[in-house]
Order: sequence, then structure tokens, then C-alpha cells
Amino acid sequence: SANRKFHPKDTVIQVGDLKIGGGHFQIIAGPCSVESEEQILMVAEAVKLAGGTILRGGAFKPRTSPYAFQGLRGDGIKLLIKAREATGLPIVTEIMDISQLELFSDVDIIQVGARNMQNFELLKALGKINRPILLKRGLSNTFQELLMSTEYIMAGGNEQVILCERGIRTFETYTRNTLDLSAIPVLKILSHLPVIIDPSHATGMAKLVPPMALAATAAGADGLIIEVHNDPEHALSDGPQSLTPSAFALLVEKINRVRQAL
Ligand code: PEP
Ligand code: MN
Repeated sequence: SANRKFHPKDTVIQVGDLKIGGGHFQIIAGPCSVESEEQILMVAEAVKLAGGTILRGGAFKPRTSPYAFQGLRGDGIKLLIKAREATGLPIVTEIMDISQLELFSDVDIIQVGARNMQNFELLKALGKINRPILLKRGLSNTFQELLMSTEYIMAGGNEQVILCERGIRTFETYTRNTLDLSAIPVLKILSHLPVIIDPSHATGMAKLVPPMALAATAAGADGLIIEVHNDPEHALSDGPQSLTPSAFALLVEKINRVRQAL
């Protein structure tokens, strides 16, 4: 169970040579979508150079419009694996349907996106494999609902769940979503699992990513997941919220300074 009552100590999740949770902090970064070999290799090298520790990149993309870029799918996963070979960074990418599971056999962390947080059959299938799962809070889901989705995975035997707050729907429209920073202390009171913050989807605006990332770090998050693109203006998805490699590098330095001050 995810419940702190049954497991007072923080869970530490192993990802390759890295650990997340229980004082171990990881910075996940990379493009919203894997777009080409050149792009993912370029961003992966930049993420590594800046001090990012895990590479993200969407291959199966849950887009609001069916006419928008849907991702490179299986080929995108192959390109992420190439980027891992080039940099040594473990990879995280989103699964949208159980039928895709076989394609994820060499992915280090499998992401369940906000829109699939309550895809219970998918959660049950991920409960039966031995792999870390990054579970994002749904756009309109409560903490209790997020934790019940976590139970779906854990009940199957897979206890490696990383919880992620990525902003929720509110009446505010200036920002893409509203970052609920209280997710960090609340989820840590209720559960023993690592909690990370996604300031990119939470705000939808690159300018807002650094302050929210720093606030999340100060509030005790176990990590961050940040969108970085070599050419945000021409990104095939989520350009407006993507940091350039140099903005990301500057942010990593500040995150490390905040961590040292804790
Ligand atoms: C993503 O990480 O690219 C993504 C689609 O995130 P979310 O499910 O939080 O919208
Ligand atoms: Mn995105």
C-alpha cells in the first residue's frame, strides 16, 4: 500500500544507478515530444551537460486535437534508447494504452499521464511488471483519487510508484493549469512514495517554470520534471512552456543552491 501508516519510512526507488526519494533528488528533463534523432540527441546532451539526471521525451502523445502531432510512437522510443546510449541518462516516456506495453520493455520509467490516471486496466497491467511508474495527478483529481490509482498499481505487486503533481484545472485561465504545491507536504503525510513536480505543464509558460521549480524544491519535492527544447519556437508540442538549454542550465544551478540551503 501507498499508505504511510503501513510504511513509516520514505520509499527509495532505484532507477539504473540513481535513486529517487528518501533524500535522493533527481532532475528529469527533455522535450515534450521526441521529434527526430538529431533533436533528441541534441537535447539529451544539453540536459546532461546542465546537470539533468534523467531524460524525458514523449513518443505517444495525448494531444487535445487529433490533428496535432501525435508522436513518433515506437520509433520515438527507439530514439530515446539511442539518446540513453549516447548520454547514459535513464529515460522516461508515457504509455497511453496497455497494447503498447511491449514497446516499453527497455524504458527505465514508464509514465502514466494525467489523462490516464484513472485508466484502471492500464494501472492493473503496470502493477504486474517490475518497473518504476511515474504517475501523474489527473487534471481534476483529488489527492485521495491519485492515491487510489497508486493502489491499483501497488496491489498488483509493483511498489515502485513516483507521484507527480502537474497542475490542476481551476477558474484561472492566465496559466495553463494551477500548480498545487501543497501536493508535496500532503502526499508526504499520506504516503511514503517520492513526490515530484512538473512546473512545465502546471504553468504552460517558460517564464514561470524557474520560480515554480525553485518553490517545489524548497517545499521538499524529491525531484522535478521539466520540458527543455533546443528550439522552443518550432517545437511540435508545448513550445511555450519549454526552456532553452541555457535557461535550463541556469535553473539547475539555482535548484542546487536551494537544495544546499535546506
Ligand atoms: C507530458 O508529460 O508530456 C504530458 C502530456 O503530461 P501530462 O499528462 O501531465 O499532461
Ligand atoms: Mn508536454
